[in-house]
Parts: sequence; structure tokens; C-alpha cells
Amino acid sequence: MNNDCLFCKIIAGEISSAKVFENDKILAFKDIHPQAPVHILIIPKEHYDSVNALTEDSAAVTGDIMLAAKQLAEEFHLEKGYRLITNIGEDGGQTVKHLHFHLIGGLKLSEKMN
Ligand code: AMP
Ligand code: ZN
Repeated sequence: MNNDCLFCKIIAGEISSAKVFENDKILAFKDIHPQAPVHILIIPKEHYDSVNALTEDSAAVTGDIMLAAKQLAEEFHLEKGYRLITNIGEDGGQTVKHLHFHLIGGLKLSEKMN
């Protein structure tokens, strides 16, 4: 746990969240400022600042995140599709420095990605 990290505090239960998925490695909860009808954040329980902090030993956690995303997409009836986004660093628009994927869906998303 990183004591200065908002998402580590959510994992520790020190800050409340609207949990939608949990297993031993992954937690998912609703984004507090949703940008679509479905906007879920999927995070590893282990703290990594971003994709840039992953190594050969830890990168497999992104596979666990993808499997959680797939299950959530089914539960939230996103049969027509959805988008998974991870922001990295300042230019990427990352505001919380704990690796997370946004699962966004429930509407026809823009073709523009920037
Ligand atoms: P990013 O800009 O990619 O770092 O995304 C951070 C996301 O965390 C934003 O979409 C915020 O709305 C969301 N967020 C910030 N604080 C909370 C919180 N306490 N609970 C749920 N989502 C949060
Ligand atoms: Zn953290």
C-alpha cells in the first residue's frame, strides 16, 4: 500500500467506493464523475504508478484486469461494445497515480480518441 495514494485507500477501505467487482488481485468500482452511463475503474490491488511501472514479473496483472472488464461488460449489458482506457502520465491525462483502466460504455462512443 502507498499511503499517499487515493486508490490504495479505497482498496484498504479507508475511503468508500461503489464496488462492482473484487477478487484477490483486482478491485473495480464506479467512477465518481462518470463520463458515460457505465463508467467503471478497474485497478490492481498492488500499487503500480501506471503501465510504465510494470515489469515482466508484474505485467500479467493487466490480463486479470481484462478478464474483470469482460465479466463486467457482460453484467452491465454492454453487448454492443465498450472502451477500455488507461491514461499514463501528464500528456495522457492521468490524475490518479495508481494503475487503472476506465471501462466506458452504454452509449455510441466517439470515433475520435484524442
Ligand atoms: P485518470 O484521470 O485516468 O487518472 O482517472 C482518475 C479517475 O478517478 C477520474 O475519472 C476520477 O473521476 C476518478 N476518481 C477520483 N476520485 C475518485 C473516487 N474517490 N472514487 C471513484 N472515482 C474517483
Ligand atoms: Zn495506490
